[in-house]
Amino acid sequence: MPKMLAEFLEYLETKECNHPHDVHLPCIKIVVVINCPYCQGMPIKFGKTGTRQRYRCIACKRVFMNTYINKACCASINNHIVNFLKEGCGIRSIARLLSISINTVISRIKSIANSVIRPIIANGRIYEMDELRTYIKNKDNDCWVIYALDKQTGQVVDMKVGKRNKMNLKRITDTLLLAKCNQVYTDGLTIYKHLLPYAIHKVRRYGTNRIERKNLSLRTHLKRLNRKTICYSKSATMLEACLKIYFWLPGQPM
Ligand SMILES: [Zn+2]
Repeated sequence: MPKMLAEFLEYLETKECNHPHDVHLPCIKIVVVINCPYCQGMPIKFGKTGTRQRYRCIACKRVFMNTYINKACCASINNHIVNFLKEGCGIRSIARLLSISINTVISRIKSIANSVIRPIIANGRIYEMDELRTYIKNKDNDCWVIYALDKQTGQVVDMKVGKRNKMNLKRITDTLLLAKCNQVYTDGLTIYKHLLPYAIHKVRRYGTNRIERKNLSLRTHLKRLNRKTICYSKSATMLEACLKIYFWLPGQPM
């Protein structure tokens, strides 16, 4: 060991550190830098919960801890719920994977869906419109997912969950008409003739290819829409919340 280094280590041992050492090594103070999990801002210490230190972000004023006993309190839990939901996990499987309760998953999905904003619709586009059949609680209680997508971008522009009646279909067609659509491709359902002007309404073979393919993706990616399984929706509210997240919320960083 060079003389200078040996002197320096001896200096650290004698002057800086009072800990007993078995070997002649300097005591190193490890500084852990903690950032706010919400905005990556600088936190300050903000009391304790039991023995665990709490912190408060200077920028966003949110209080957080390094470790939580209740995992549902972690800042990243909502991102995990969104990602698992979009990848074909049901509510109970999400609860098992994240070690949180089923009721927490349900309430979080509802609150996330309430914060989702429908995208702005461009004027003068070509749309496809279709209905996807499913059921609520039992197979006698039919329910339909009525939605329209932009033929060019594949973006879902509006969606409604309910019975396949004139009132529910009108809500979607009104959105398309307000957006001054060029053409709307639908299947041969007769109600459309009464809701869309003859000039823009098109019923063509292969005209709804894109939305029919989207139906297939929906059936694969959302557990509650899988065919020939024991998975189904128990409430229309939850079905609508899951669809809102699937359509309009992008994948979250894990
Ligand atoms: Zn913050």
